[in-house]
Amino acid sequence: MYDALTLFDARLANGSLADLTVADGRILSIVPAGRDGAPGASAGARATAALRDRAVRVDSPAFSEVLRGRTEQPAGIDLQGRLVLPALVNGHAHLDKTFMGARWQPHRVGTTVPARVGAERAIRSTLSESVAERSSALARAMVEFGTGTVRTHVDIDTELGISSLESILELRDALRDVLRMQVVAFPQSGILASPGVDRLLEDALIAGADVIGGLDPAGFDRDAVRHLDIVFGLAAAYGVGVDIHLHELGDSAVRQFRLIAERTRRAGLGGRVVVSHAYGLGSIDLDLARRLGGEFAEAGVAVMTNGPAGPMPPVLAMREEGATVFSGSDNIRDAWWPFGDGDMLGIARQVAYQSNFRTDEELETALDLVTHSAARAIGLPHYGIAEGAFADLVVLDALSPAAAIAGGSADRIVMHGGAFVAAQLRETHLVAPALRGAVAVRP
Ligand SMILES: [Zn+2]
Repeated sequence: MYDALTLFDARLANGSLADLTVADGRILSIVPAGRDGAPGASAGARATAALRDRAVRVDSPAFSEVLRGRTEQPAGIDLQGRLVLPALVNGHAHLDKTFMGARWQPHRVGTTVPARVGAERAIRSTLSESVAERSSALARAMVEFGTGTVRTHVDIDTELGISSLESILELRDALRDVLRMQVVAFPQSGILASPGVDRLLEDALIAGADVIGGLDPAGFDRDAVRHLDIVFGLAAAYGVGVDIHLHELGDSAVRQFRLIAERTRRAGLGGRVVVSHAYGLGSIDLDLARRLGGEFAEAGVAVMTNGPAGPMPPVLAMREEGATVFSGSDNIRDAWWPFGDGDMLGIARQVAYQSNFRTDEELETALDLVTHSAARAIGLPHYGIAEGAFADLVVLDALSPAAAIAGGSADRIVMHGGAFVAAQLRETHLVAPALRGAVAVRP
């Protein structure tokens, strides 16, 4: 036996209202709102209608009491038309690098990847807060904003060994009931440029890393073929996927994109390989980028973008060619990047800005990058608003997916595996008399 919970008047992405029942960690049923109580309805349906009358409204003090654990969870919650989305997916993060949970660290300038790696190592040695403390602070923020799954790259180098990875694996275990986590063994200081890292990457996979990472095979390690030999060799040996940071531009990037696609095909790893950033796709002729999009689609290589300043993949063109494009936060308040709060709607908006998205359809594409496409790219099963899917949900105070991307949502209610795990409920005080008569933002 298990306790079922029905979310009444949930607004789906298509605008319709539904009653969504979760049980045993999954979505059990989705039916049009109110249908259960229609004339001629069955006894079971009438019972559901009675349940609706007793449901706790999300805007009521009673719901806060439920969240605080002061009252027993009711069998029904009335979402009052709020938008329900599958929990957000952060397809690319660096939990181990963040300064969140530590004092503010002013950004140190470094113009090249090696210079930034050096600056990061210098700052890292001065921090008094551990990887465990900082990464858990960021993971908590991610959950509060409605992220249900994160793929995090963890630095493996000769200084750290696999110590950061061990901290992140412990965190994954500790957060098992609130956040799904995939861990990438990431050679931030290179593989060939940093002798010994190849063996450490293997240690990381033995310790429990889910995916093997890579970094600028030509630009950083100066030998794309040997770098990819090691990365794809480890993927084959340990049966894991591949996720390669590729910051390079122009012809060098194009050559590496094709090497990666070719190796993906040869290894039978289609659907399990990601090129992260792929700035090069934004630095070349659009027709060539489209051709590469088609080659990636055919090989099963996905592209991750976080909407950076400067060149970025042409998102719509790549998708039109059939390639999977998705998003992650990348760095959040660390040595690489001072910005960020863990909110994937903010990242989707950033990609939308940088891509010049305006229409509802384009904004829905931005949302797709942090939901369905991200889930597909990282191989997350049972994802979505569908019967049988994991009941990992985020409830937003927004009228539509496009509105959520365009303007965000101050309120978020987060469920993981069918249980409430976090909520941000806005309390606004309009003090000045002139503000009290203003039209509400949402009708
Ligand atoms: Zn990254």
